[in-house]
Amino acid sequence: MRKSDYTSPERFENEIELDRTLRPASFDEFSGQSKPVENLKIFITAAKQRSEPLDHVLLTGPPGLGKTTLAYIIANEMASNIRVTSGPVLDRPGDLAGILTGLGDRDVLFIDEIHRLNPIVEEYLYSAMEEYKLDIILDAGPNARSIQITLPPFTLVGATTRAGLLTAPLRARFGVSNRLDYYPPEILFNIILRSARILDVKISEEGALEIARRSRGTPRIANRLLKRCRDFAEADHKLRQYEGSITSEVAHHSLAALEVDELGLDEMDKRILRTIIEKHSGGPLGLNTLAVAVGEEPGTIEEVYEPYLIQEGLLRRTPRGREATDRAYEHFRISRRKPGQESLF
Ligand code: ADP
Repeated sequence: MRKSDYTSPERFENEIELDRTLRPASFDEFSGQSKPVENLKIFITAAKQRSEPLDHVLLTGPPGLGKTTLAYIIANEMASNIRVTSGPVLDRPGDLAGILTGLGDRDVLFIDEIHRLNPIVEEYLYSAMEEYKLDIILDAGPNARSIQITLPPFTLVGATTRAGLLTAPLRARFGVSNRLDYYPPEILFNIILRSARILDVKISEEGALEIARRSRGTPRIANRLLKRCRDFAEADHKLRQYEGSITSEVAHHSLAALEVDELGLDEMDKRILRTIIEKHSGGPLGLNTLAVAVGEEPGTIEEVYEPYLIQEGLLRRTPRGREATDRAYEHFRISRRKPGQESLF
């Protein structure tokens, strides 16, 4: 792993335990995202009052922002059990049938990466979501017959980083749809202090704010950087005087050593901006050309990377394509050439 990969919001393989330890179990512990949270609280209260399952919930947004966490909180608040799976894992209709028939009344089924469902499995999901029924075909050829299984009323919570790839029929079957946005540093600051308490890490407010600013608006990255800064605080002999505490100095030193830049940009963010600036004079550059140049799918650039760059004022979407802003030039300490200047050489 390269050091600068620490700012990627994707989960590292060994990180499942950290995610689990730090995952808030109730709305009270979940910071930020006030709009989706307020909506969900109301819908949950209403469903409980009617003794019905909560409507199916779709959660969209970039990785590491709390989609899985919210699914667990929903189950907790509904006092029901949760089954967790993902689109690519549900490969055959039988896999889906196995999970659905094992659900209890008002349980939550969480399907991560729901945009990656096999289309045949997705078809089966439609009637399960709508009527709590599953038509299963037994045998093949002339002996084929179908049996209908009635399922317990359940809530499907679907999560996706790529809302644009969801089919219209699937999207239409979710009664509640919420998009999670990047967290401002003040909220990440609170999340870091909470995580530090749970992990028993000593940290100053300035240290927490420094990590918060460089976490790319993403709680998962904030937690990861907190853990790495603790390693530096405890084991780097140059920091011995701070006695294991993450002060502002310790955070600065550690984040510099991890090559996390001031805005917490990840490798792909930097590649996107540098390609526009260095190879295309700041743009405008069409999305498809950009995608080929950086080696990523256009849809992933649009839905996973660009929202943060646009929010931070580093990138602009224009009718003619993507443009790097002055702030992006400043961030990379590159001076913008005036139009026509290139032709001198
Ligand atoms: P996603 O499913 O969107 O990829 P997760 O729900 O797995 O993200 O969140 C990643 C980690 O970030 C979780 O383990 C949790 O500790 C932390 N986290 C996410 N959102 C919040 C939040 N609002 N408050 C506190 N911690 C959060």
